[in-house]
Amino acid sequence: MTQKQVAVIGGGIAGVCTAYFLAEAGHDVVVLERHHNVAEEASYTNPGLVAPAYAGPSAAPGMPRKILSSMFKSESAVSFKPSADRALWRWISRWLDECDLERFRINKLRMQRLATYSRDILKLMREHYQIEYEQTRGVLQLFRTAKDLKLAEPAISLLSEYDVPFVMLDAEGARAVEPTLSTHTPLASAIYLPEDEAGNCPLFTKRLKYICTSMGVQFHFTSAVDAIEPGGSGVGLRIAGKRFDADAVVVAAGSDSTRLLKPLGVQLPIYPVKSYVATAIIKNFDHAPVATVIDEAYSVTLTRMGGRIRIAGIPEFGTRTEELQDRALRTLARVGSDWFPHAAIYGKANFWSGALPTLPDGPPLLGATPARNVYINIGHGSGGWTMAAGAGKLVADMVSGRATDIDLDGLTLARYG
Ligand SMILES: Cc1cc2nc3c(=O)[nH]c(=O)nc-3n(C[C@H](O)[C@H](O)[C@H](O)COP(=O)(O)OP(=O)(O)OC[C@H]3O[C@@H](n4cnc5c(N)ncnc54)[C@H](O)[C@@H]3O)c2cc1C
Repeated sequence: MTQKQVAVIGGGIAGVCTAYFLAEAGHDVVVLERHHNVAEEASYTNPGLVAPAYAGPSAAPGMPRKILSSMFKSESAVSFKPSADRALWRWISRWLDECDLERFRINKLRMQRLATYSRDILKLMREHYQIEYEQTRGVLQLFRTAKDLKLAEPAISLLSEYDVPFVMLDAEGARAVEPTLSTHTPLASAIYLPEDEAGNCPLFTKRLKYICTSMGVQFHFTSAVDAIEPGGSGVGLRIAGKRFDADAVVVAAGSDSTRLLKPLGVQLPIYPVKSYVATAIIKNFDHAPVATVIDEAYSVTLTRMGGRIRIAGIPEFGTRTEELQDRALRTLARVGSDWFPHAAIYGKANFWSGALPTLPDGPPLLGATPARNVYINIGHGSGGWTMAAGAGKLVADMVSGRATDIDLDGLTLARYG
């Protein structure tokens, strides 16, 4: 393998994992990040699911109807602001096509393949470096009604078909897994995913940054890349009017990747889907969750993270600002107090919103582009932390010209023709 100087654009979890594996493969690596530190955008605060069994596209059979019916409720799983944004309407049209059962199966299997590989790589990394990042084991999906469970049937049949471990539970069984689940909230059934995990994504990213630094990776903060200029035997990057040369570049710039790639002829339907997070301090540990629950009625995830509970969800379409909408915050607080009413004061939680760089079909895009020496690790949507370690290793293998450990079918630009 030829040692290269590789620039990684973006210090989110995708960029830092890529930098780590590039350095491990023997390359000279520079991470260019526009903020003062790593994990300042989508990777900043998420509920931390690393969940190959749960991983799947948002486009699924029955989802359009669920979204439509929830939009008129005072607490809603989704928020939609009327918008004239043509990119949004194009994205929605493609997303609707992907809600077909056969498309859902293809997309979920692609995500599951990468997510399972990624979870195993993450495990090797944390054991090798003894990285602690507030990990918990097991994910419990809660179905308030039989209708909620019915919507999950296509995903459940894929778990059975591919021998992914899961346990169907009644309300009593669910309370054996999470003993402090409230008995006042209706619970029809649950699914326990014993091999799914959760952990603090920004904490892991920061720990990995130090490991990268010790391996010689250079981090250049407050360095916003304005343009990528391929040509000759390498590639140039335009930063504040100056040119920076490298042998290859990996674009891992989250939602900004489309702007950087468009002049290179790579046009992708990545849309920044805003989502909300509430972080509440646990005031009563006797009533706190043990690990992670997902309320399927609201598609809201609630995770125990050390001394805090993190609740996240409510995708919002039609706005590109960070403004916090009351209705979304109310829904997160409601889910918290519905399931663990005495664990925290949810109204006093710390609220945040972030944009998920999301493709309409779900799986991310990894590897080479038509522009020579320009690679991508983008479009991770709501599963970027789950996929990051594996995606980073695959992209580093592709940059190094090595065979990858798993089949890349459906995970590269080839799927967009
Ligand atoms: C509310 C919420 C809940 C989520 N829940 C989960 C979950 O439970 N499990 C899961 O797996 N995933 C989850 N995710 C998704 C996951 O957080 C993202 O997919 C992941 O963080 C994306 O990582 P990234 O590195 O691609 O993007 P980012 O973290 O956004 O990183 C991109 C980086 O590139 C930098 N950048 C952009 N443009 C430039 C430029 N021109 N020059 C220099 N730097 C640039 C940005 O500053 C940023 O730091 C959630 C996300 C949110 C917001």
